Amino acid sequence: MEFFYHPDQERHAPPSFLLRGRQVASPEGPVRARMLLEGLASLGIAVTSPATTDSPRLRERLARVHTRRYLDFLETIHARWSALPEAAEVVSPNVHPCGGGHHYPRHPVGQVGWHMHDMACPLTADTFRGVMANAASAEAAAEAVLAGAASAYALCRPPGHHAGPDRAGGFCFLNNSALAAEVLRERYARVAILDVDLHHGNGTQDIFYARGDVWTGSVHADPADFYPFFWGGADETGEGEGRGANLNVPLPLGSDGTAFMAALETLIEAMSSFQAEALVVPLGLDAHRDDPLAGLALETEDFEAIGRRLAAIALPTVLIQEGGYPTEHLGRNLAAFMRGFNGAERLGEG
Ligand code: ZN
Repeated sequence: MEFFYHPDQERHAPPSFLLRGRQVASPEGPVRARMLLEGLASLGIAVTSPATTDSPRLRERLARVHTRRYLDFLETIHARWSALPEAAEVVSPNVHPCGGGHHYPRHPVGQVGWHMHDMACPLTADTFRGVMANAASAEAAAEAVLAGAASAYALCRPPGHHAGPDRAGGFCFLNNSALAAEVLRERYARVAILDVDLHHGNGTQDIFYARGDVWTGSVHADPADFYPFFWGGADETGEGEGRGANLNVPLPLGSDGTAFMAALETLIEAMSSFQAEALVVPLGLDAHRDDPLAGLALETEDFEAIGRRLAAIALPTVLIQEGGYPTEHLGRNLAAFMRGFNGAERLGEG
Protein backbone atom coordinates (compact mmCIF):
# COMPACT_ATOMS: atom_id res chain seq x y z
CA MET A 1 0.00 0.00 0.00
CA GLU A 2 1.27 3.47 -0.83
CA PHE A 3 0.79 6.59 1.33
CA PHE A 4 0.86 10.21 0.16
CA TYR A 5 1.08 13.61 1.84
CA HIS A 6 2.68 16.92 0.83
CA PRO A 7 3.99 19.40 3.46
CA ASP A 8 2.58 22.31 1.39
CA GLN A 9 -0.88 21.20 2.55
CA GLU A 10 -0.01 23.02 5.80
CA ARG A 11 -0.13 26.32 3.90
CA HIS A 12 -3.87 26.25 4.51
CA ALA A 13 -4.07 27.04 8.22
CA PRO A 14 -7.44 28.67 8.95
CA PRO A 15 -7.32 30.74 12.14
CA SER A 16 -10.93 30.38 13.25
CA PHE A 17 -14.46 29.52 12.25
CA LEU A 18 -17.96 30.40 13.33
CA LEU A 19 -19.61 28.00 15.79
CA ARG A 20 -23.12 28.88 16.97
CA GLY A 21 -22.38 32.53 16.27
CA ARG A 22 -19.00 32.58 18.03
CA GLN A 23 -15.56 32.90 16.45
CA VAL A 24 -13.64 29.91 17.83
CA ALA A 25 -10.30 28.30 17.02
CA SER A 26 -10.77 26.03 14.02
CA PRO A 27 -10.50 22.30 14.79
CA GLU A 28 -9.39 21.85 11.15
CA GLY A 29 -5.71 22.79 11.14
CA PRO A 30 -2.24 21.41 10.37
CA VAL A 31 -2.14 19.73 13.78
CA ARG A 32 -4.54 17.13 12.36
CA ALA A 33 -1.98 16.07 9.77
CA ARG A 34 0.70 15.76 12.45
CA MET A 35 -1.57 13.52 14.55
CA LEU A 36 -2.48 11.37 11.55
CA LEU A 37 1.19 11.08 10.51
CA GLU A 38 2.01 9.95 14.05
CA GLY A 39 -0.68 7.31 13.77
CA LEU A 40 0.87 6.01 10.55
CA ALA A 41 4.38 6.20 12.05
CA SER A 42 3.21 3.97 14.93
CA LEU A 43 2.76 1.26 12.29
CA GLY A 44 6.14 2.02 10.70
CA ILE A 45 4.50 3.75 7.73
CA ALA A 46 6.22 6.69 6.02
CA VAL A 47 4.48 8.92 3.48
CA THR A 48 5.64 9.95 0.02
CA SER A 49 5.15 13.47 -1.36
CA PRO A 50 3.56 13.82 -4.80
CA ALA A 51 6.14 15.00 -7.32
CA THR A 52 4.30 18.23 -8.07
CA THR A 53 1.53 20.20 -6.35
CA ASP A 54 0.21 21.85 -9.50
CA SER A 55 0.18 20.82 -13.13
CA PRO A 56 -1.96 21.31 -16.24
CA ARG A 57 -3.12 17.69 -15.88
CA LEU A 58 -4.23 18.16 -12.26
CA ARG A 59 -6.12 21.29 -13.26
CA GLU A 60 -7.80 19.48 -16.15
CA ARG A 61 -8.85 16.66 -13.84
CA LEU A 62 -10.20 19.11 -11.24
CA ALA A 63 -12.25 20.76 -13.98
CA ARG A 64 -14.10 17.45 -14.42
CA VAL A 65 -15.48 17.71 -10.87
CA HIS A 66 -15.63 21.49 -10.33
CA THR A 67 -16.72 24.36 -12.55
CA ARG A 68 -13.97 26.44 -14.18
CA ARG A 69 -15.60 29.49 -12.62
CA TYR A 70 -15.20 28.03 -9.12
CA LEU A 71 -11.58 27.00 -9.70
CA ASP A 72 -10.78 30.51 -10.96
CA PHE A 73 -12.55 31.94 -7.90
CA LEU A 74 -10.43 29.88 -5.49
CA GLU A 75 -7.23 30.97 -7.21
CA THR A 76 -7.99 34.69 -7.52
CA ILE A 77 -10.41 35.69 -4.77
CA HIS A 78 -7.89 36.43 -2.03
CA ALA A 79 -6.10 39.08 -4.11
CA ARG A 80 -9.38 40.64 -5.28
CA TRP A 81 -10.82 40.59 -1.74
CA SER A 82 -7.66 42.16 -0.29
CA ALA A 83 -8.01 45.09 -2.69
CA LEU A 84 -11.37 46.03 -1.13
CA PRO A 85 -11.31 48.90 1.36
CA GLU A 86 -10.92 47.70 4.95
CA ALA A 87 -11.08 44.03 3.97
CA ALA A 88 -10.13 41.47 6.61
CA GLU A 89 -7.08 39.28 6.00
CA VAL A 90 -9.27 36.18 5.71
CA VAL A 91 -11.98 35.79 3.04
CA SER A 92 -15.37 34.82 4.45
CA PRO A 93 -18.97 35.31 3.31
CA ASN A 94 -21.61 37.63 4.71
CA VAL A 95 -24.36 37.29 2.09
CA HIS A 96 -25.83 34.21 0.39
CA PRO A 97 -28.24 33.69 -2.52
CA CYS A 98 -30.69 31.70 -0.36
CA GLY A 99 -33.38 30.37 -2.65
CA GLY A 100 -31.07 30.38 -5.66
CA GLY A 101 -30.40 33.89 -6.95
CA HIS A 102 -30.79 34.96 -10.58
CA HIS A 103 -27.31 35.99 -11.68
CA TYR A 104 -23.64 35.52 -10.86
CA PRO A 105 -22.23 38.74 -9.42
CA ARG A 106 -19.03 40.55 -10.45
CA HIS A 107 -18.25 41.96 -6.96
CA PRO A 108 -15.90 39.86 -4.78
CA VAL A 109 -18.27 39.95 -1.79
CA GLY A 110 -21.09 38.60 -3.97
CA GLN A 111 -18.88 35.88 -5.42
CA VAL A 112 -17.75 34.81 -1.93
CA GLY A 113 -21.39 34.46 -0.91
CA TRP A 114 -22.12 32.48 -4.09
CA HIS A 115 -19.27 29.99 -3.73
CA MET A 116 -19.02 29.55 0.08
CA HIS A 117 -22.12 28.06 1.52
CA ASP A 118 -21.12 28.39 5.17
CA MET A 119 -18.64 30.09 7.52
CA ALA A 120 -16.33 27.09 7.94
CA CYS A 121 -14.08 27.87 4.97
CA PRO A 122 -11.94 30.88 5.85
CA LEU A 123 -9.66 31.41 2.86
CA THR A 124 -6.19 32.87 3.43
CA ALA A 125 -3.48 34.07 1.03
CA ASP A 126 -1.96 30.57 1.02
CA THR A 127 -5.16 28.51 0.92
CA PHE A 128 -5.13 27.89 -2.83
CA ARG A 129 -1.57 26.53 -2.80
CA GLY A 130 -2.44 24.39 0.21
CA VAL A 131 -5.54 22.84 -1.29
CA MET A 132 -3.80 22.24 -4.63
CA ALA A 133 -1.08 20.29 -2.78
CA ASN A 134 -3.89 18.43 -1.03
CA ALA A 135 -5.53 17.54 -4.35
CA ALA A 136 -2.14 16.50 -5.71
CA SER A 137 -1.84 13.95 -2.88
CA ALA A 138 -5.24 12.50 -3.79
CA GLU A 139 -4.24 12.44 -7.47
CA ALA A 140 -0.97 10.63 -6.61
CA ALA A 141 -2.85 7.97 -4.62
CA ALA A 142 -5.27 7.35 -7.49
CA GLU A 143 -2.38 7.21 -9.98
CA ALA A 144 -0.62 4.65 -7.76
CA VAL A 145 -3.67 2.41 -8.08
CA LEU A 146 -3.81 2.99 -11.85
CA ALA A 147 -0.15 1.93 -11.92
CA GLY A 148 -0.99 -1.37 -10.24
CA ALA A 149 -1.01 -0.86 -6.47
CA ALA A 150 -3.90 -2.75 -4.84
CA SER A 151 -4.59 0.27 -2.65
CA ALA A 152 -3.27 3.70 -1.73
CA TYR A 153 -4.00 6.34 0.92
CA ALA A 154 -3.81 10.12 0.67
CA LEU A 155 -3.59 12.10 3.90
CA CYS A 156 -5.80 14.90 2.65
CA ARG A 157 -6.34 17.87 4.93
CA PRO A 158 -8.39 19.98 4.78
CA PRO A 159 -11.12 17.45 3.93
CA GLY A 160 -12.97 17.64 0.61
CA HIS A 161 -16.30 15.80 0.58
CA HIS A 162 -18.46 18.85 1.36
CA ALA A 163 -17.06 20.73 -1.67
CA GLY A 164 -19.58 20.62 -4.52
CA PRO A 165 -19.19 21.40 -8.22
CA ASP A 166 -19.39 25.17 -7.62
CA ARG A 167 -19.11 25.52 -3.85
CA ALA A 168 -16.89 25.34 -0.76
CA GLY A 169 -18.35 24.32 2.60
CA GLY A 170 -17.64 22.46 5.83
CA PHE A 171 -13.84 23.07 5.83
CA CYS A 172 -13.70 21.76 2.21
CA PHE A 173 -12.50 23.57 -0.94
CA LEU A 174 -11.56 20.91 -3.51
CA ASN A 175 -13.28 17.52 -3.49
CA ASN A 176 -10.32 15.14 -3.23
CA SER A 177 -12.45 11.98 -3.18
CA ALA A 178 -14.33 13.01 -6.33
CA LEU A 179 -11.01 13.83 -7.99
CA ALA A 180 -9.65 10.38 -7.10
CA ALA A 181 -12.77 8.75 -8.56
CA GLU A 182 -12.38 10.78 -11.74
CA VAL A 183 -8.74 9.65 -12.09
CA LEU A 184 -9.81 6.02 -11.57
CA ARG A 185 -12.43 6.50 -14.29
CA GLU A 186 -9.60 6.93 -16.78
CA ARG A 187 -9.15 3.15 -16.60
CA TYR A 188 -12.22 1.74 -14.85
CA ALA A 189 -15.67 2.11 -16.42
CA ARG A 190 -17.54 1.93 -13.11
CA VAL A 191 -16.25 3.44 -9.87
CA ALA A 192 -17.92 3.44 -6.45
CA ILE A 193 -17.44 5.96 -3.64
CA LEU A 194 -18.29 4.67 -0.17
CA ASP A 195 -18.16 7.51 2.38
CA VAL A 196 -17.68 6.50 6.04
CA ASP A 197 -17.18 10.01 7.47
CA LEU A 198 -19.43 11.16 10.33
CA HIS A 199 -21.00 13.71 7.97
CA HIS A 200 -22.89 13.18 4.75
CA GLY A 201 -20.66 13.67 1.70
CA ASN A 202 -22.95 16.25 0.13
CA GLY A 203 -20.40 17.72 -2.26
CA THR A 204 -19.54 14.31 -3.66
CA GLN A 205 -23.22 13.44 -4.00
CA ASP A 206 -23.90 16.64 -5.93
CA ILE A 207 -20.94 16.12 -8.28
CA PHE A 208 -22.09 12.64 -9.35
CA TYR A 209 -25.86 12.87 -8.73
CA ALA A 210 -26.85 12.68 -12.40
CA ARG A 211 -24.10 10.25 -13.49
CA GLY A 212 -24.51 6.53 -13.93
CA ASP A 213 -20.79 5.69 -14.07
CA VAL A 214 -19.95 6.64 -10.45
CA TRP A 215 -21.99 5.15 -7.61
CA THR A 216 -22.04 7.15 -4.37
CA GLY A 217 -23.01 5.91 -0.92
CA SER A 218 -22.70 7.45 2.53
CA VAL A 219 -23.33 6.44 6.15
CA HIS A 220 -23.56 9.44 8.46
CA ALA A 221 -25.33 11.14 11.35
CA ASP A 222 -28.90 12.02 10.35
CA PRO A 223 -28.87 15.45 8.65
CA ALA A 224 -32.28 16.21 10.14
CA ASP A 225 -30.25 16.95 13.27
CA PHE A 226 -26.70 17.43 12.00
CA TYR A 227 -24.42 19.15 9.48
CA PRO A 228 -24.74 19.38 6.42
CA PHE A 229 -28.49 19.63 7.25
CA PHE A 230 -29.81 20.07 3.69
CA TRP A 231 -28.51 16.86 2.07
CA GLY A 232 -28.08 13.24 3.11
CA GLY A 233 -31.62 11.86 3.41
CA ALA A 234 -32.43 8.27 2.50
CA ASP A 235 -34.78 9.51 -0.25
CA GLU A 236 -31.93 11.08 -2.27
CA THR A 237 -31.21 8.34 -4.81
CA GLY A 238 -29.85 10.13 -7.87
CA GLU A 239 -31.44 11.60 -11.00
CA GLY A 240 -31.34 11.10 -14.74
CA GLU A 241 -28.62 8.58 -15.66
CA GLY A 242 -27.65 8.58 -11.98
CA ARG A 243 -31.03 7.36 -10.79
CA GLY A 244 -30.44 4.54 -8.32
CA ALA A 245 -26.69 5.25 -8.13
CA ASN A 246 -26.78 7.19 -4.85
CA LEU A 247 -27.64 5.72 -1.45
CA ASN A 248 -27.69 7.47 1.92
CA VAL A 249 -27.97 5.62 5.23
CA PRO A 250 -28.49 8.22 7.96
CA LEU A 251 -28.08 7.09 11.58
CA PRO A 252 -29.62 8.61 14.72
CA LEU A 253 -27.22 10.82 16.68
CA GLY A 254 -25.18 8.80 19.17
CA SER A 255 -25.35 5.53 17.22
CA ASP A 256 -22.60 3.04 18.06
CA GLY A 257 -20.33 0.74 16.08
CA THR A 258 -22.92 -2.01 15.78
CA ALA A 259 -25.39 0.32 14.06
CA PHE A 260 -22.60 1.73 11.91
CA MET A 261 -21.48 -1.72 10.70
CA ALA A 262 -25.08 -2.66 9.87
CA ALA A 263 -25.41 0.52 7.79
CA LEU A 264 -22.10 -0.22 6.08
CA GLU A 265 -23.39 -3.68 5.20
CA THR A 266 -26.53 -2.15 3.66
CA LEU A 267 -24.35 0.12 1.53
CA ILE A 268 -22.00 -2.66 0.41
CA GLU A 269 -24.93 -4.88 -0.55
CA ALA A 270 -26.48 -2.09 -2.65
CA MET A 271 -23.10 -1.32 -4.19
CA SER A 272 -22.62 -4.93 -5.27
CA SER A 273 -25.36 -4.71 -7.90
CA PHE A 274 -23.57 -1.70 -9.43
CA GLN A 275 -20.59 -3.98 -10.17
CA ALA A 276 -17.91 -1.39 -9.47
CA GLU A 277 -14.43 -2.05 -10.81
CA ALA A 278 -12.66 0.27 -8.37
CA LEU A 279 -13.46 1.96 -5.06
CA VAL A 280 -12.81 5.31 -3.38
CA VAL A 281 -13.33 5.55 0.38
CA PRO A 282 -13.74 9.05 1.82
CA LEU A 283 -12.23 8.06 5.15
CA GLY A 284 -13.51 10.20 8.00
CA LEU A 285 -12.55 9.31 11.56
CA ASP A 286 -14.92 11.82 13.18
CA ALA A 287 -17.54 9.19 14.03
CA HIS A 288 -15.42 8.40 17.13
CA ARG A 289 -17.25 8.97 20.43
CA ASP A 290 -14.77 11.63 21.63
CA ASP A 291 -14.52 13.60 18.39
CA PRO A 292 -15.24 17.30 19.08
CA LEU A 293 -17.84 17.31 16.27
CA ALA A 294 -19.81 14.88 18.44
CA GLY A 295 -22.31 12.98 16.29
CA LEU A 296 -21.80 9.22 16.64
CA ALA A 297 -20.21 6.95 19.25
CA LEU A 298 -17.69 4.63 17.58
CA GLU A 299 -14.76 3.16 19.50
CA THR A 300 -11.20 2.89 18.17
CA GLU A 301 -11.63 -0.84 17.49
CA ASP A 302 -14.67 -0.10 15.31
CA PHE A 303 -12.37 1.58 12.79
CA GLU A 304 -10.35 -1.63 12.58
CA ALA A 305 -13.56 -3.52 11.77
CA ILE A 306 -14.50 -0.92 9.13
CA GLY A 307 -11.07 -1.29 7.54
CA ARG A 308 -11.33 -5.07 7.52
CA ARG A 309 -14.80 -4.99 5.95
CA LEU A 310 -13.81 -2.51 3.23
CA ALA A 311 -10.71 -4.56 2.36
CA ALA A 312 -12.94 -7.64 1.96
CA ILE A 313 -14.71 -5.95 -0.97
CA ALA A 314 -11.43 -6.74 -2.74
CA LEU A 315 -11.46 -3.91 -5.30
CA PRO A 316 -8.59 -1.60 -6.24
CA THR A 317 -9.09 1.05 -3.56
CA VAL A 318 -8.08 4.66 -2.98
CA LEU A 319 -8.50 5.85 0.61
CA ILE A 320 -8.90 9.63 0.97
CA GLN A 321 -8.65 11.21 4.40
CA GLU A 322 -11.73 13.30 5.22
CA GLY A 323 -12.75 14.38 8.74
CA GLY A 324 -11.50 13.42 12.20
CA TYR A 325 -10.58 16.22 14.59
CA PRO A 326 -7.97 16.63 17.31
CA THR A 327 -8.25 14.25 20.24
CA GLU A 328 -5.75 11.87 21.78
CA HIS A 329 -7.49 9.14 19.73
CA LEU A 330 -7.15 10.57 16.21
CA GLY A 331 -3.83 8.97 15.24
CA ARG A 332 -4.79 5.70 16.91
CA ASN A 333 -8.08 5.61 14.99
CA LEU A 334 -6.23 5.88 11.68
CA ALA A 335 -3.75 3.21 12.78
CA ALA A 336 -6.66 0.94 13.77
CA PHE A 337 -8.29 1.41 10.37
CA MET A 338 -5.03 0.60 8.59
CA ARG A 339 -4.47 -2.51 10.72
CA GLY A 340 -7.92 -3.71 9.74
CA PHE A 341 -7.64 -2.77 6.08
CA ASN A 342 -4.20 -4.22 5.50
CA GLY A 343 -3.79 -6.87 8.13
CA ALA A 344 -0.69 -6.08 10.20
CA GLU A 345 1.50 -8.40 8.15
CA ARG A 346 0.78 -6.72 4.82
CA LEU A 347 1.36 -3.09 5.79
CA GLY A 348 3.79 -1.29 3.54
CA GLU A 349 3.44 -3.72 0.64
CA GLY A 350 1.97 -2.75 -2.71
ZN1 ZN B 1 -16.85 14.82 8.87
